Amino acid sequence: MFFSRLFNFASHDLAIDLGTVNTLVYVRDKGIVLNEASVVALETRNGVTRVKSVGNDAKLMLGKTPAGIQAVRPLRDGVIADLAVAEQMIKHFIDKALGGPTRFPRRPKIVICVPSGSTSVERRAIRDAAFSAGASAVFLIEEPMAAAIGAGLPVTEPIGAMVVDIGGGTTEVAILTLRGLAYSTSVRFGGDKMDDAISSFIRRKHNLMIGEATAERVKHGIGAASAPEGDGPDMSVKGRDLVTGRPVEVRITQAEVAQAVAEPVGQIVRAVMTALENTAPELAADIVDQGIVLTGGGALLVRMDEVIAQATGLPVVIADDALMCVAMGAGQALEDPKFAGVLSVS
Ligand code: ADP
Ligand code: MG
Repeated sequence: MFFSRLFNFASHDLAIDLGTVNTLVYVRDKGIVLNEASVVALETRNGVTRVKSVGNDAKLMLGKTPAGIQAVRPLRDGVIADLAVAEQMIKHFIDKALGGPTRFPRRPKIVICVPSGSTSVERRAIRDAAFSAGASAVFLIEEPMAAAIGAGLPVTEPIGAMVVDIGGGTTEVAILTLRGLAYSTSVRFGGDKMDDAISSFIRRKHNLMIGEATAERVKHGIGAASAPEGDGPDMSVKGRDLVTGRPVEVRITQAEVAQAVAEPVGQIVRAVMTALENTAPELAADIVDQGIVLTGGGALLVRMDEVIAQATGLPVVIADDALMCVAMGAGQALEDPKFAGVLSVS
């Protein structure tokens, strides 16, 4: 049987959470050995483009690249936007996770996560990228399934469980039972849209142009899914004044940031409500008991859990290590034959 080959593992086999913002690599028997930004810096010289740096080093260059260098996020909207660059990135991360390139090519088996809403063309692109990065076999796992396993939900039992994975490019909402997805949807609202919303709010209200990285820092610093009492905490933000063109600094409050991100947060809540409306009654009953589990970086936005709890009337918990659940779950699927049924080859 095909899957018996999978469980006949070698120690360099790995699981990859290829996120739109962060890529994590789990190596069999070692756990997560790599956690880096999904960014590639490309340098073009004399008409030839080559990879200059990958991961966290490349992220530092986002929005600050000199002429001739371009920092790109190959997965920006939850799908591979630039296949050639994505392949280079995956290959780089695999080599790094396994301790650098070697003279003797390793042929690891790879479990790789795919967003639940991805088309067969997108799945093939991800699979091909892993093969051309050197995999001997590639198994796919649905991202929300990996998130649920990583969060410790009872996915192999006939118990309905609901997971909401709020990533950078997309939010995945899924109801799972018996190793399968009973319902899943993926919406293109997540951390990136929050960052965009913060930038445009600050531009409109304060005439201040800020970069992507600054918007993300504001979100991490004082972001919240709902308004605080009063103005809440504040922070100073630097950017370029649209009127004078000069660099300036303004103070932004949490109340402002909450107002700015209301739209993307509302879209995420709407996706959760739609999932609940489409759930079979028996599964819905389980979810009433078990509640909703949040994973992904967006789960860490202050009061995100509260906002979802209020809209649904259900208990909501943020998974431990929310940013690592998908990689942990994919890693467990790689190691534990109990999860063989959640893997597929296409
Ligand atoms: P992906 O799987 O798409 O790579 P992640 O699950 O790694 O995404 O989450 C990354 C997103 O989570 C980014 O948009 C990041 O800004 C956001 N994020 C991380 N930590 C926080 C936090 N403490 N508050 C709000 N957003 C956060
Ligand atoms: Mg993710």
